[in-house]
Amino acid sequence: MKILLYTLIFLFGTIIGSFLNVVIHRVPKKESIVYPPSHCPSCGHELNAVDLIPILSYILLKGRCRYCGEKISIRYPIVELLTGIVFLIIYYKFGLDFKAFSYMFLASILIAVSFIDIEHRIVPNKIILVGFIGGIIFRVLMYNYGFIDYIMGLVLGGGILLLISLISGGEMGGGDIKLMALIGFFIGWKLTILVLFLSVIIGALGGVILVALKIKGRKDYIPFAPYISIAWLISILYGYEMLNYYIKFIRG
Ligand SMILES: [Zn+2]
Repeated sequence: MKILLYTLIFLFGTIIGSFLNVVIHRVPKKESIVYPPSHCPSCGHELNAVDLIPILSYILLKGRCRYCGEKISIRYPIVELLTGIVFLIIYYKFGLDFKAFSYMFLASILIAVSFIDIEHRIVPNKIILVGFIGGIIFRVLMYNYGFIDYIMGLVLGGGILLLISLISGGEMGGGDIKLMALIGFFIGWKLTILVLFLSVIIGALGGVILVALKIKGRKDYIPFAPYISIAWLISILYGYEMLNYYIKFIRG
């Protein structure tokens, strides 16, 4: 019975991932995400149900469009698989309640924003706005978790990055500031501090690795949203253990 639920959650994640692919492809181009129906970006042929099965269609079609033979971006199965796995992890850790759903929702936002940041170097306001609308709904549904803590997370998350941006003269993008404020609104101020801290470390490490592998040059733009997102996932999974360990450590 348990295995069935795990399978369903994973499949649900891949379907959401498939929808996120549409968001990633269309939102930066300012296209509608509901109309027209999914079509091949290169020949424009409308895709039918068999072409739209998450992950499986890509494998069966050997990564090419059935109609024109053009290569399909590997991003499609990656986003579907990634969303499925992240949903599984969240379910494994939190079960199925409002908290888990709020994290699955935020994970979806973060995956869309990260891939858009990688491809287009922007964090679309529209997606952040959808994130905040979802955030308000979850804060109401989860009223027993309190409200102030999350407002503080929002102010702290956005505020610290804004401060860094002002001090460094615009090194930190406005999109990252809004994204961090959104995350704070979902996780409260304590974990927000941890996300800020971890994203700087992971970002520095990631930057060094990308430059060493010559994927990025020393002066290239390195998107920060993916690092913030990884830091967020680590923080919701292990954050309180890490904070407790740290408090014990500084108290000797
Ligand atoms: Zn095609």
